[in-house]
Formats: sequence, C-alpha cells, structure tokens
Amino acid sequence: MKHMAILVLLCLPVCLAYLLDGAAKKDPNTDFVQQYLEKYYNLTKDRKQLLRRNDNGPVVKKIQEMQKFLGLEVTGKVDSSTLEVMHKSRCGVPDVGHFSTFPDTPKWKNTHLTYRIVNYTPDLPRDAVDSAIKKALKVWEEVTPLTFSRMYEGEADIMISFAVKEHGDFYPFDGPGYTLAHAYPPGPGFYGDVHFDDDEKWTEDTSGTNLFLVAAHELGHSLGLHHSANTEALMYPLYNSVTDLSRFRLSQDDVNGIQSLYGPPPASSDDPVVPTESVPPEPGTPTMCDPALSFDAVSTLRGETLLFKDRYFWRRSHWNPEPELNLISAFWPSLPSNLDAAYEVKSKDTVFIFKGNMFWAIRGTEVQAGYPRSIHTLGFPPTIRKIDAAFSDKEKKKTYFFVEDKYWRFDENRKSMEQGFPRLIADDFPGVKPKVDAALQAFGFFYFFSGSSLFQFDPNARVVTHVLKSNNWLNC
Ligand SMILES: [Zn+2]
Ligand SMILES: [Zn+2]
Repeated sequence: MKHMAILVLLCLPVCLAYLLDGAAKKDPNTDFVQQYLEKYYNLTKDRKQLLRRNDNGPVVKKIQEMQKFLGLEVTGKVDSSTLEVMHKSRCGVPDVGHFSTFPDTPKWKNTHLTYRIVNYTPDLPRDAVDSAIKKALKVWEEVTPLTFSRMYEGEADIMISFAVKEHGDFYPFDGPGYTLAHAYPPGPGFYGDVHFDDDEKWTEDTSGTNLFLVAAHELGHSLGLHHSANTEALMYPLYNSVTDLSRFRLSQDDVNGIQSLYGPPPASSDDPVVPTESVPPEPGTPTMCDPALSFDAVSTLRGETLLFKDRYFWRRSHWNPEPELNLISAFWPSLPSNLDAAYEVKSKDTVFIFKGNMFWAIRGTEVQAGYPRSIHTLGFPPTIRKIDAAFSDKEKKKTYFFVEDKYWRFDENRKSMEQGFPRLIADDFPGVKPKVDAALQAFGFFYFFSGSSLFQFDPNARVVTHVLKSNNWLNC
C-alpha cells in the first residue's frame, strides 16, 4: 500500500509535465525511465536515444537488462508492471557496473573494522539508531570472520551519516521515497561509508522505512557486495517493506556472496562437509519422525523420492527401506537451501528446483548450464514472486504449479502456460487444504503435503482418498 501511495504522489509532477507539454505526443514516463536507466543501469546520457526507443537501440536493451535483473518478464517495453516496480523505494547504488571506478571487486584487508555514527536522524532516539546499526553489523559478523568496533571520533573505516539532497558526493538524495540510502565499496577515505537519505521516515518497525533493514543492505555494500538479482536476497536492490523483522535472516545467496570475499566465521570453518553420504544428526537437523514435520519441496529423481527440508533432503529409494538424510549442498553445491518447490520431468531426465523467483534444472548431480532462470520465463505474471509446490503429470505431460490458493498448469509439449489459469485449488482439488507446501504424483494419485498433513487425491474420482501424516513417506 505504501508503494501505491508513492506511485500516486510521484506521478503528479510527471503527469503535470505531460499536460504542460501540450503536444501530448510524448510518453509521460519517458524522462522518468531515462533517468532511472541512467542512474541504476549506466545508460549514457544521450537524449537522442529516446527517439529510438522502439527499435533494438540501447534504451530497449537497458530496459531488458533491468527487467532481467529485477526478476520481471523481459519484454523490452515499459509496461505497467515494470513501471510499478521502478517506482518502488530502493537503494541508490546502481544494479550494473561498479559504483566506484575500481577495476575489480574491492574488499577489506583487515578482518577487524571500525565504524562511526557521525550524526543522527531526528526520526528516532539515538539509542534506537545505535542498536539498529549494531544489529545490522551483527548480520554480517555472524557469517564471516569480520568483527566491528565503534569509534566516537576521528576517521573510522565505515562512516555512517544521515543527509538530505546534495551532501558532498556526486550522488544527491532525492527527497522522500525512491532512493533511501547508498554506500561505497571497501577502501580508504569515503570508501566503505554509508549515507542515509534523511528525507525518509526512519523507523524501528516497518511503519516507515526500517533503519535496520536498509543499514544491513548498505553495510553489505560497505563490505564489498554488489546487488543480487535474487529477490530473496538482502542485497536485492528494492526495499522489501513486508519482511517480518522477527524472522529476518540472510539468504543463502547473501551468505555465499560475503563468504566468497571473507570466508566463513572461524568457529564453523571446520564444520564437517560429508560428500554424498548421510550426515550425522546435529543441532538444527530435522527429525524424521517428528509428528509436526513438514516439507519444503518433494520430487522424484530417477525412481527415488527426494523430500527437502531446510538445508537437507531425505532420499528414499526402492532398494533402501531406510530413508537417507543428506545435505543439499553435498549433492548440488550451487543450489540454495529452504527450497520452495521441485518436480521431475521424466521424459527430459530433469528435475526443476524452485526458490523465490528463480529456478534451476538438475540432471542427476549436475546443475544444468544457463540456470538459474526467472520463473517469469515460464509465463507467470510479474506479481508472482514464488511458487509453493509443483508436480508434473508424466502421462499427460502437464505440470501443475501451486501458489497460495490457486494453481497454474504448464504444457510440457508446447512449453507454455495453459490458457484459463490460474484456477482455485478448492474448485479442482476438493478436500485439499491450501496452501500446499509440496506435491507429488505417484501410484496414480496426486499427493499434496500441507504442513504435517498429506492428502492423497484421486484425480479420476476427484476426491481425497486418504489423509495421512506428511512423514508417512519416511515410513514413520
Ligand atoms: Zn544497494
Ligand atoms: Zn552520499
């Protein structure tokens, strides 16, 4: 809703300009789009380019690049859904190219860094700012060998300040909305520094712009991370106001990024990584016969059943009656954890794995080249940000995708989403409880996992024939 309000407000000067333009031939969004692409996608400032917006010119290419990065359908046109996303509050650091002129990705040489809060916003008590910054630093401290200590005067590695409009660098802030903050990559002087736009309403909760969330993102830049195209990542450039703060955690994408620069924290650097063998139980390992057990995703793979949970999966084969627990990363190091959905297309010997707005294709233990791809390339509307569950009907060559209380059907032969979808799960699968966590086709039935319940559905009679425990699949 907040974004809607911003959209309406910001439309005013643009629409006014449109009216004043008189000729009314000019698209009212032209200047906005041009400036956005210049600011965040390194579009060169050449006004003549606008005249070539309908061909394969640089503007169309930049629009495509932006749509790809932000996880939108790549059309090369500024349609209403693209425009809506472009109007969202975001980080001021560009999505492509380097923010600095440094030729390669810079990182800090020391693992112990200093920070200083140079000034404060009038929106919050000082101790609220102090604790938001401290908490944001802790996010990165927990997954790296980095440590931070605070300075109260002099030059710290990371200088944190609040400013409005022009504030001494070449990146003036823009009043309320749009750019919220920006930060510089590691280095001496102003490098590593974080600037917050004090024309935002900074808050401890999510009623305004949450200082902790923005600070954690900006500090990622201060430590050397660029933007991620993964919508689940903290380093995704758009501000996500719906995040449940109590459940905030870094995505695997962020962890992979920062650990590629600094490595893991010393305490966990000697964690055993057991390749392709069962892992011994350890704290945080899901318990197979816990009656409350639910699954993230379930799929078949070459005749076996894989049941995914957090960083793990159980593997149930015909030959081994005892399910085997493995780390996802032991089989597919580049896959994320906490998956959303998975399904096998037997005719292609491929399992498709979904997380956020991305999906991967795997064949055996190999992740296929060219992935991850955006789920929107399958034909989902831009409003869909993740899939809850999926399975592929191998006889009919149709894949079912479940999102909240609706489902879509994809034709594997024609490689396109079928017309007339989404439909309501309740209408076509009576007795199955939305939302669905995971789904599977086996023994002529459709199986729907929802929390700790498993629904066996007969697609011919269109009735639920059994309600079981989810971990029934693990012989519990
Ligand atoms: Zn950013
Ligand atoms: Zn600045």
